[in-house]
Amino acid sequence: MPETNHQDPRVRQITIIGGGISGLAAAYEVQRQAREQSLPVAVTLLEEEERLGGKILTEQVDGFTIEGGPDCFIRQKPYAAELAAAVGLEEDLIDTNDEKRKTYVINKGKLTPLPDGVMLIIPTRIKPFVTSPLFSWPGKIRMGMDLFIRPFAGNQDETIAQFTRRRLGNEALEKLAEPLLSGIHVSDPETQSLLATFPRFRALEQRYGSLTKGMLAERKLAARHRRNGAKPASIFQSLRGGLGQLPTALEASLTDCTIYKGSKVERIERAGSGYRLTLSNESTLETDALILAIPAYQAAALLEPLQPQAAAELNAIHYVSTATISLAYRKADLKRELNGFGFVAPRLEKRKISACTWSSIKFDNRAPADMLLMRCFLGGPGKEEMVDLSDEEIIQVTRQELDALLGIQAEPVLTRIYRWIKANPQYDLGHLERVDKIFSLIESDLPGIYLTGSAYRGVGVPDCINQGKKSADELLKFLQQNSVTT
Ligand SMILES: Cc1cc2nc3c(=O)[nH]c(=O)nc-3n(C[C@H](O)[C@H](O)[C@H](O)COP(=O)(O)OP(=O)(O)OC[C@H]3O[C@@H](n4cnc5c(N)ncnc54)[C@H](O)[C@@H]3O)c2cc1C
Repeated sequence: MPETNHQDPRVRQITIIGGGISGLAAAYEVQRQAREQSLPVAVTLLEEEERLGGKILTEQVDGFTIEGGPDCFIRQKPYAAELAAAVGLEEDLIDTNDEKRKTYVINKGKLTPLPDGVMLIIPTRIKPFVTSPLFSWPGKIRMGMDLFIRPFAGNQDETIAQFTRRRLGNEALEKLAEPLLSGIHVSDPETQSLLATFPRFRALEQRYGSLTKGMLAERKLAARHRRNGAKPASIFQSLRGGLGQLPTALEASLTDCTIYKGSKVERIERAGSGYRLTLSNESTLETDALILAIPAYQAAALLEPLQPQAAAELNAIHYVSTATISLAYRKADLKRELNGFGFVAPRLEKRKISACTWSSIKFDNRAPADMLLMRCFLGGPGKEEMVDLSDEEIIQVTRQELDALLGIQAEPVLTRIYRWIKANPQYDLGHLERVDKIFSLIESDLPGIYLTGSAYRGVGVPDCINQGKKSADELLKFLQQNSVTT
């Protein structure tokens, strides 16, 4: 932990609070620009835990690569792959095993394949959709009406539930949008903001008149851009040794940044034109500017004495808790071969687990050849009590579910449970306006303080990286403008 710092007044002090991927990306961008432009800055990163990475947590156990938090990132937003390449991980970027790609939806207690051509919630191929047992006939007809329903006029937000019911009907909401769209965000579709989480869907309907037409048009466009009819790239990517490789490589590359682990920031006060931070060991640190790359409710606690209105808005971004449990089995112990990437369980099915990824099928290098690694998701909106169960209870409940749904009675050779308490920010209706308000209050009242991370403009790893970079850029611009006037 740092002792009280003594500064060279010519060197501008920058502090980043939080060593998750957002804070690390911010630190990396400050270092990059400082080197490129020979900026006289000193960068300090403070992390409460004894390890960096935050929600990114990979463990290597007995030949298994186990992801406690995220296991992949979306390719469409290139920031994660770019950052991985910048810190020397280009060769370690891996795709999903798309030849085995199949997703199942639990329907009336049974694994039912998501029909080929359904892109998240949008059907793009007629035959597999029409012949699928997943939807009733009235449900299919209602989904087909997407082709004729007039697009939303204006730019007002709506919930995922309102949007899906409007375009595709209730069955699509219950069987697809709730487990898939809200599943990704661990949210409730009845409150989840469309524009804060899936703005592309609104753009598709408004540009092309229907989701199906829009998805088909975009696919055609993408195919035209691929050379020589090459196969489409996988939608998600990961790293050979698990996503934990990214924070580890970032830590190693942050050689101009002083990193203190086990250092919780307890208080922020104004000090001259900058700020004084008090850490959990009572040491203090003065800084010209800082980035808070921590959950919104933790930022609220630190900012409450300085800007109570912003703190109240930060506290209004509520969070839910989840847990993941990874289980490994000997393939020889399983009665049936699993074929696909896993399943989701819609809420109407009333299951105790909400999804299950077959990790060692989805990615290479996740398990020894004779083993199968999978992980199940528990908790989330309306089911948070599952996270409070003991380890034994979580294992028991999960094994009962895997028996009921997949017929797995075998003893797992390994289990690992990760609890994520207040880890998933909820982007409810009004989220974007709230974030604008928070950012403008901070900008006008607390110059030199920046907020970044999963609470604001995207929860995915690439969004967090992009936001971290942007806040670093804004902070450096602020210091440059500030140094002209002082
Ligand atoms: C189970 C799970 C699965 C997920 N799956 C995916 C996925 O597959 N793909 C994807 O793209 N995204 C996924 N996500 C989302 C993504 O992982 C997170 O949104 C992202 O990692 C958050 O990064 P962050 O840096 O903003 O926050 P965090 O990772 O929460 O980092 C914040 C850091 O700040 C530290 N901190 C807090 N307060 C203080 C303080 N006062 N002083 C010092 N340090 C402090 C914390 O200890 C923490 O390390 C998943 C999330 C979870 C929980």
